[in-house]
Amino acid sequence: MQCIFCEIVKGSVQSYKIFESENFLAFLDINPRSKGHCLVIPKQHYQSLLEMPEDKIFGLFNVTKHVANKIISKLNAKAFNICINNGKDAGQVIPHLHVHIIPRYGEDKDVAIEAILPVKEELKNKLVEIANILKG
Ligand code: AMP
Ligand code: ZN
Repeated sequence: MQCIFCEIVKGSVQSYKIFESENFLAFLDINPRSKGHCLVIPKQHYQSLLEMPEDKIFGLFNVTKHVANKIISKLNAKAFNICINNGKDAGQVIPHLHVHIIPRYGEDKDVAIEAILPVKEELKNKLVEIANILKG
């Protein structure tokens, strides 16, 4: 299967790289949701976070933190959201694990990423039940 992000890793598709290490790459998203919106990917192809071995996950978030710090210091972003869409039903379009870093500049400061979905009031009295399922 051809994967556009694997092609970016190989260099056969152009990207606006902002960070590269042995195992990870960060580049600008071509459909920026804000100035500096970028994606951090493992060079190895994993479809989602669930496929990635635990010992590699530290590296992914370490690079995410490093790039986020650059965004804050060099672009003067005030804050940032990080987001991973895992699976088509969560909106994942490119099936190669990627962390979105979305810088925030205070223009829409009351909008949190989870606000894409409305609060489901009917779930508020099922929290004990759900917690018990997940704890088990
Ligand atoms: P998603 O799979 O929904 O988490 O998002 C995939 C993201 O990849 C989208 O925000 C796209 O704009 C971005 N994207 C797709 N192709 C490229 C590319 N060639 N270079 C940079 N970003 C891309
Ligand atoms: Zn890939």
